[in-house]
Amino acid sequence: MTLGLDPDELVACVACGLCLPHCPTYRVTGLELASPRGRIAAMRAVDGGMAAADATFVRAMRECVQCRGCEAACPSGVPFGHLMETTRDAMRHVPSARPAWRVRVAEWLGYRVVLPRHWLLLVLSWVLWLAQRLGVAGRLAPAGVSPPSLSARSLAVRLLPDATPDVVLFTGCVMDAWQRDVHRDAMTVMRATGARVGLIGSGGACCGALHAHAGRLDEARSLAQRVISATDGDVEVVVDSAGCGAALKSYGELLDTDEAREFSARVSDFSEWVVARAALPVQRSGRRVVVADPCHLRHVQHADGAVRTLLAPAYDLAETADDGLCCGAGGVYAAREPGLAGAIRDRKAAAIRAAAGESANPDAPVLVVSANPGCALHLGAVPGLIVRHPAELLAEALP
Ligand code: SF4
Ligand code: SF4
Repeated sequence: MTLGLDPDELVACVACGLCLPHCPTYRVTGLELASPRGRIAAMRAVDGGMAAADATFVRAMRECVQCRGCEAACPSGVPFGHLMETTRDAMRHVPSARPAWRVRVAEWLGYRVVLPRHWLLLVLSWVLWLAQRLGVAGRLAPAGVSPPSLSARSLAVRLLPDATPDVVLFTGCVMDAWQRDVHRDAMTVMRATGARVGLIGSGGACCGALHAHAGRLDEARSLAQRVISATDGDVEVVVDSAGCGAALKSYGELLDTDEAREFSARVSDFSEWVVARAALPVQRSGRRVVVADPCHLRHVQHADGAVRTLLAPAYDLAETADDGLCCGAGGVYAAREPGLAGAIRDRKAAAIRAAAGESANPDAPVLVVSANPGCALHLGAVPGLIVRHPAELLAEALP
């Protein structure tokens, strides 16, 4: 089979290995085939017809978190994210690479039925909330997956847009259902800069990032077009989810149209936008906060500095010593690969505790900031880690 990869992208890898320490799956397993270099070599062999897309190849591709830590570390500029998305797209059409039928049904329901229909996701979220109250939610979840603890207060938050906004907040699908209180705080902070804040129009809920990661590129393109069509005129678009922000900023490459490129140029991450607009009159809290950079904020958007600029006047920031290594959330990765995702998270949690100076007491609560809902849910499942969004911490620090 051919994977349809760009030969120029493949040959850009010179096998130097500088990316290896930045790869969470390599750090956990120590296996070459679980490293970026090994994965690229395997892609090259299959794409060139020198090897089959057998079970070992499929596993090596599926175990990649798509954190793109390797891309940021690579001196040759290998576009690993694009290579992996194209490979996964090709694998979907190979019978031997297809997952079990149960997984295919679950994926069809998730990607094709629920995520594109925001009203359905909201209804199911209320059902999950009820199941949690009745104590039966754990029995419904796949082994190794911790369902998020939903709050009726967050689910019931009403976001009220301003008339004639000069910026709109992209609210997304899962984040709008499970962490809408973060959107409320993001709007509060944005208004504190003097902005009139609107909301993305109807039909523009799901950005397609999860679809692109899964190699469902046609569906990702369709959702991207819906988001662009749901945005009026040439208003700025702010995103408070790092994964969604990276997706919206890549619509130009995904759709390859002038309209999409113009749209992507108007997109900012929440922290990036607030820093560029105004200095906020925050009050110093003195609380220590460990910064956990979402990969798609640090390695893809390169907007991790803005979070620190915003929070430093109000909080004592602490840095992990792992050079921004992934936490293992990876969209639906934690559900698909719970063993590896858990092992990667253990390393991250240890780095967070070391940064907080709490290694002597592993049960002491540690305040962590993360600008991505998936990372917040994944890390928040670790006992003692209290994960908040930059918007929440900033809203609390406003006078
Ligand atoms: S992906 Fe980049 S950093 Fe990694 S081995 Fe290839 S050239 Fe080196
Ligand atoms: S995207 Fe992340 S997990 Fe995948 S090969 Fe690169 S560093 Fe490793």
